[in-house]
Amino acid sequence: MTDSPNLFADQPSASTGFVDVLVPVALNQTYSYRVPRGMELKAGDLVSVPLGARDVMGVVWADNAQPEPRLHNRLKDVGEKLDVPPLRDELRKLVDWVSTYTLSARGMVLRMSLRMGWDLGPERTRTGVRLVGAPPKRMTPARHRLIDILSDGLLHGKSDVAREAGVSVGVIDGLVDEGTLLTEPMPRDLAATQVDPDWAISDFSPEQEGAAAALRTLATSGDFKVALLDGVTGSGKTEVYFEAVAEIIKRGEQVLILMPEIALTGQFLDRFALRFGVRPLEWHSELTPRTRARNWAAVAAGEAQVIVGARSSLFLPYAKLGLIIVDEEHDQAYKQDEGAHYHARDMAVVRASIAKIPVILASATPSVETEVNARKGRYQRVALPSRFGGQHMPQIEAIDLRREGPMRGRFIAPRLAENIQIAIDKKEQALLFLNRRGYAPLTLCRGCGHRFSCNICDAWLVDHRFRQRLVCHHCGFSIPRPHRCPHCGLEESLVAVGPGVERLQEEAAALFPGARTMVLSSDLITSIETMRSELNEIAEGRVDVIIGTQLVAKGHNFPRLNLVGVIDADLGLGNGDPRAAERTFQLLNQVIGRAGREQGRGVGYLQTHQPEHPVMKALIASDREAFYDSEIAARERAGYPPFGRLASLIISAGDRPTAEGFARKLAGLAPLDERVKVLGPAEAPLAVIKGRYRFRLLVKSARGFDLSGYLRDWMAIAPKTTGNLKLEIDVDPQSFL
Ligand code: ADP
Ligand code: ZN
Repeated sequence: MTDSPNLFADQPSASTGFVDVLVPVALNQTYSYRVPRGMELKAGDLVSVPLGARDVMGVVWADNAQPEPRLHNRLKDVGEKLDVPPLRDELRKLVDWVSTYTLSARGMVLRMSLRMGWDLGPERTRTGVRLVGAPPKRMTPARHRLIDILSDGLLHGKSDVAREAGVSVGVIDGLVDEGTLLTEPMPRDLAATQVDPDWAISDFSPEQEGAAAALRTLATSGDFKVALLDGVTGSGKTEVYFEAVAEIIKRGEQVLILMPEIALTGQFLDRFALRFGVRPLEWHSELTPRTRARNWAAVAAGEAQVIVGARSSLFLPYAKLGLIIVDEEHDQAYKQDEGAHYHARDMAVVRASIAKIPVILASATPSVETEVNARKGRYQRVALPSRFGGQHMPQIEAIDLRREGPMRGRFIAPRLAENIQIAIDKKEQALLFLNRRGYAPLTLCRGCGHRFSCNICDAWLVDHRFRQRLVCHHCGFSIPRPHRCPHCGLEESLVAVGPGVERLQEEAAALFPGARTMVLSSDLITSIETMRSELNEIAEGRVDVIIGTQLVAKGHNFPRLNLVGVIDADLGLGNGDPRAAERTFQLLNQVIGRAGREQGRGVGYLQTHQPEHPVMKALIASDREAFYDSEIAARERAGYPPFGRLASLIISAGDRPTAEGFARKLAGLAPLDERVKVLGPAEAPLAVIKGRYRFRLLVKSARGFDLSGYLRDWMAIAPKTTGNLKLEIDVDPQSFL
């Protein structure tokens, strides 16, 4: 391994003549290269090497390589050594570990560490603006919004703040003329600005102070430890874990804060700046190549103290990582389901154990796995059982759709509608939650019953009125909404069946004339910027009724939101997914947790056909323990994670017999082991995606069994996938579709 003592340490040069280099392509093995005279290489160095006809970037994985002597003359030379800090042992071990565990090619895992973009040289200077003088004599709403944003006294980018306030830059120029605002050049957008651990000290409740003290101790332990920061929605988890961040910064080390959905972190970045004086560095897929290059370099050089990122930021080459925080640790978005199938929360714990540093997992509804770890004492539980500022948890009521549902073709029950009207009258906000994009999930012909489905997926086409198209949510295929049925030719015969958020907006507009409604749904949002500005609009109270998919469930404070109506609480249940109950509980808890965070009493309405379901009962009784008790018991009985292990193998091909035939052959070759059960092949619940027929094998083993090793032995004797056959291995699957 890479951490073994260098056998050649007493030789004059660190290089040994040959090195093994791992390249970021879909391969497991390293390649040996000759080290040219005069070049010194050690493990971790970044190099460019010839690979086939190209030159590629790679990383020295072993510096004391000993290729077979007969190969010596055939090996190519390393091209050059790149001028960046070497990848540390810790990261190389992580790459090896993740690859071994997930059975993804090592090169593909390494690739996540090397997405550094390009440095495009110096940038143009940007103009900044800050508040310096008295408010203008004439106040307009636009001016007001602008001044509001600038009231923190900090220098903001001129175009940024115009966009954020929804005003033209002319409004800014006007206020500059009046002496309210001042423009000055922005300091070069430094990748790393100094985070000040003592910029603003939080004033904690006794409960919060207890939790903060526990996390400070954890942070300074300088050892691998896992804490579950277990706090109800609105308890101040963020404020509290900022204390651990401050400790690490004082030690001169780096902090990684993982977020499930980076587009939703606008408010988080502002709160971070209020506590630490500057925004943290971000890492996500929408960074420009230049920012990416700059941030990558700042991380590698140790200049970036705090990084907030999506799951891939776990693989960055931190110079001295001291703490990882996984916010909303239960979130499904942490699982990557293409390329390397890894779970960022689990791999964060792995990285921390390799680096011997602490991890904080934060959630109001921990994953069952994490909850079991906390109950067994493997993770330290740091609890925040009540909301900050004396706010109450929302009260939750069921609306039994069997008895008091809306009339046909409507989706908002009368009791829910009445209460929304009351909220609007009180100038409070209401949120209608429905996890369905578009207008209607199904379109059919009244004349012949024809249903519109995707040509290449096993799925209905979803009506998107806003875009005027019927769209497949699996492959993106779409057609304009036709005027006549393509099957029977009848005109104007198509009917929309079931609700999507766009249809709900139509209903809300009819029910509450004069109310301002807004739909928040990922397909209506074109960029992280627009997302953040729409969330700001809501937070500022410029919307009365918000209609949203799960995007709105996560981590926002809408100060005037006190009512949440869940249109279809049963939606996520009963699809045969072993995690359905857990997911539903987490999602509904989180979305209802948006209510009543700052003033007044929050209330949540669950429209359901099964108010007696354990998930609904636990939510209504606010009895979280009851939910975990029953869910943990059920998992234990069934031998599901964390009491047993699962892996899923998805076999797909362009035609059904090929996929099924290969799946059967594969199943027949599974090594016999009484600790393992291979189930299937069965047609996957989503039997066809993008014209590919899919079969699934589910592999179940006892807890503590080396399932990855078992799979590797199995794959070693499996036939190669040729033609358009594809085999995907998913260890610890989250999705069962
Ligand atoms: P959680 O993440 O647990 O849902 P947050 O950290 O978002 O909770 O806190 C909820 C709200 O309460 C936020 O607006 C936050 O700024 C505020 N808050 C929490 N703790 C404090 C505190 N000690 N002082 C001031 N405001 C606080
Ligand atoms: Zn499709």
